[in-house]
Amino acid sequence: MYRNILTQLRQSFPQPVSDRVHDSYVAHTVMRALDHVDQLKTDLPVLGPKQPLDYAAARRSELADQGTDLEQVVQELVGYMRGASLWGHPRNQVNVCPPPTVAALVAELLAGLANPNLVWDEVSHRFALAELEMVATLSRLVGYDSQRSAGLFTFGGTACTLYAVRAGLEKALPHAMRDGLGELPVVLGSECGHYCLKSVAGWVGLGTRNVILIPSDARNQMSVELLAEAARTFLRRGKRIACIVATMGTTDSFGLDDLEAVLSLRDELVDEFALDYVPHVHADAVIGWAWAVFRDYDFQANPLVFRPRTLRALAATVERLKGLERADSVGIDFHKTGFAPYVSSLVLFREQADLLRLGREPSDMPYLFQTGEYHPGRYSLETSRSGAGALAALANLRLFGRSGLQALLGHLVEMAQALRELLESKPSIHIVNRENFGPVTLFRVYPPSVDTFKVPEREMSDPTFASELARHNEYNRQLAHFLHQEAMSGRGILLGQSDCYRHTPYGEPIVALKSYLMTPFVEEHHLQELVDKVLQAQGELESRLVPSSS
Ligand SMILES: *Cc1c(COP(=O)(O)O)cnc(C)c1O
Repeated sequence: MYRNILTQLRQSFPQPVSDRVHDSYVAHTVMRALDHVDQLKTDLPVLGPKQPLDYAAARRSELADQGTDLEQVVQELVGYMRGASLWGHPRNQVNVCPPPTVAALVAELLAGLANPNLVWDEVSHRFALAELEMVATLSRLVGYDSQRSAGLFTFGGTACTLYAVRAGLEKALPHAMRDGLGELPVVLGSECGHYCLKSVAGWVGLGTRNVILIPSDARNQMSVELLAEAARTFLRRGKRIACIVATMGTTDSFGLDDLEAVLSLRDELVDEFALDYVPHVHADAVIGWAWAVFRDYDFQANPLVFRPRTLRALAATVERLKGLERADSVGIDFHKTGFAPYVSSLVLFREQADLLRLGREPSDMPYLFQTGEYHPGRYSLETSRSGAGALAALANLRLFGRSGLQALLGHLVEMAQALRELLESKPSIHIVNRENFGPVTLFRVYPPSVDTFKVPEREMSDPTFASELARHNEYNRQLAHFLHQEAMSGRGILLGQSDCYRHTPYGEPIVALKSYLMTPFVEEHHLQELVDKVLQAQGELESRLVPSSS
């Protein structure tokens, strides 16, 4: 009896030997799915209307006795696309989520089909080359000597930081991998950095209390003086430093740390305290890495004809990326500024030896590595590691080339600058990350009576303005709510919101509206629409506020 089921199910696998008829059935199945998806496309920045979700029903799910035929399954799968964000829609400016390219999608499909495991070249074969080609390419791009560097694809920018902190621990406490943490070193990073540093510290057993977050300035970069002070305090107390993380492109505001100064400080500390190890410096460049394509852009000749404002923004970012080649490791997310689907992250080490510190005893892995010569599974945290991320990254870099990525990023920066120009011309709008030059613009809207030449400044610095700040936070939350509803009804632009883009020096959160441009389809008229809509929302809010306040 089971044979009947088996025979039928065999049709649901790609055929192991050539069968053109079956191939066209597979292709047709994929096409049907895409067709269904197409029908969900409207003017909305999401696929079809976004309806409330029935979580209770989802929690009651269980395995059915009978299977479902492939056509039916595909239909059901497409159902999960309903309401999904269309990251490529020019009215979708929510977050650092890129629309994936067709090349990357095909890469994902092929990687799924071949199902390589990057643990070992025996089971990944040419996908191992794809990974190594990306390691070499990105090493060159960030300025590493690709003969000495090493790296691997892993599960996100979080995991890149995990690899860096774990390698740094091994440097600060040799044999900690075997012996565990006898003492607890500290890790240092920016208060504007990503929370994953705390997650990592917790997960590796350092504890989040051993994460020291350094205050940042209005440019959202950590103060190197305060970093120096903190580092010296801990070293004087006999604490070790497992890792210093410099963030090259903060998540919300595109702040860029002064990596060169951080590296110089690290070198000074080694001498000053005669350390018997060199504290690891990780560049969390999961967002900012892509701007390395502008490192040798001719800003004078400007062959791609960017506007002066764009050039200035790009040049400022390139200036900040100096020092990338001296960082001990770099985190790179292709699923952010590389236009690949999740998950495609590469962690690179300047010195291969640092990655090898994480190696295991060969005797612990008797089932692997009898053949071949590429065995990243000897030092990767993961055992099974998909080849999809590496192939998707490769697909996009081949598709774009340097000038393609320059054009894509340049356009996003150009549009962000155009948006800023529009926002700056409105007296009730204040851009809060004006010193950051990426694709993200954070701004606050104030009631018309507020003097935005003085108030934002005072809210930031003067604790007696805390209640004003809180009131204006609430004002912006309400605006965000209104704008969200409008966008979901097909009017205006879907923006992001940050409940705490940063804290004031006296510790209060600052709420901001966020336009994160990641779509190549955005044009200036969308930005005009955005500004008009924000002003309309403000008018709406004011008309509601008048009766209650009089
Ligand atoms: C997104 C982000 C991370 C986390 O990366 P994931 O790929 O989401 O795990 C880390 N650091 C920065 C600066 C980020 O923006």
